[in-house]
Amino acid sequence: MCATCGCGNDDGVRVTRLDHPHEHGHEHPHEHPHAPQTQTVDIEVALLAKNDHLAANNREWLATHRVLALNVMSSPGSGKTTLLERTIDDLSAGGNSHWSDVSVIEGDQETALDAQRIRATGAQVVQVNTGAGCHLDADMLARGLQALGPLDGSLVFVENVGNLVCPALFDLGEAARVVLVSVTEGEDKPLKYPQMFAAADLVLVNKVDLLPYVEVDLDRLCGYVRQVNPTAEILPLSVTHGDGMGSWFGWLAGTGRRSARNPLTASLDTV
Ligand code: MG
Repeated sequence: MCATCGCGNDDGVRVTRLDHPHEHGHEHPHEHPHAPQTQTVDIEVALLAKNDHLAANNREWLATHRVLALNVMSSPGSGKTTLLERTIDDLSAGGNSHWSDVSVIEGDQETALDAQRIRATGAQVVQVNTGAGCHLDADMLARGLQALGPLDGSLVFVENVGNLVCPALFDLGEAARVVLVSVTEGEDKPLKYPQMFAAADLVLVNKVDLLPYVEVDLDRLCGYVRQVNPTAEILPLSVTHGDGMGSWFGWLAGTGRRSARNPLTASLDTV
C-alpha cells in the first residue's frame, strides 16, 4: 500500500531484465540470462518508512560504482521514453566519451512496451512493473539495479511511472531529478502539481514544435515552474525535431562531471 496516496500494491512488483544482443563489444560483470530469455522476480513493496534508508543505500552503491542515476519523471505521454531513445542513439552516434555505458530501468504499472523500445536501441534495460503501484521506490530501484548490473562509470536513466504526484515523494537515491512537461499538457501543470516541479533539478519543456497549435505561452509556463522552483534549470526542447537537444546533452555532461568529482554530495548548485 502506498502510504502517500493509498493506492494498492497488492498485485506485487515484477522486475524483468530483457535479454539483449551481445554485439555491443564489452563485458558485463553479471550473468547473462540466456535461458529463459527473461528473468522475472516477484517482490514485495517496501514500506514507505524504509524508503529513505534504502535510498541512502542506493546512493552509496551508485557512488561506489561511479554510476550516475537520473530519475526521469512526468505525466504519461510527455515523451520520457522518446527522450531516452533519442539520447541513447545520439550518445552512441557521438562516441559517448563520458560514460562506460548507458542503460535504463523502466517503470510502468504493466507491460514491457517501453523496455522493448529501449532494447531496440541496443541499450541494457530492465522493466519494473509496479502492478497497482503508482511510482517507483528505493527498493524497486535496488532490485532493478541488481537485475541490470550496470557497468562502473556508467549512466543509468530511471524512467519513473508516468504520474505527476507520488513519484515526487520517493527518494530513489538518484543523483538528480529530471521532470518533463510537454506544451500539450497546458501551462498550469507546475502550479497544479508543485511538489513534482519543486523536486526537480532540471525541467525539460518538451514538444515546443507544437507551440503554434496549442494555446500555451512558453514564457508563462516557464514562469510557473520558477514560482514553485526558483533554482531548477529549465530547457525547452523538441525531442522529435531535435531543438534544444544540445542543451540537454550539455546538462548531462555537466551533471556527470560534478557527480564524478563528489558523487555522494553531487550538487547541481555547484559548477
Ligand atoms: Mg514511457
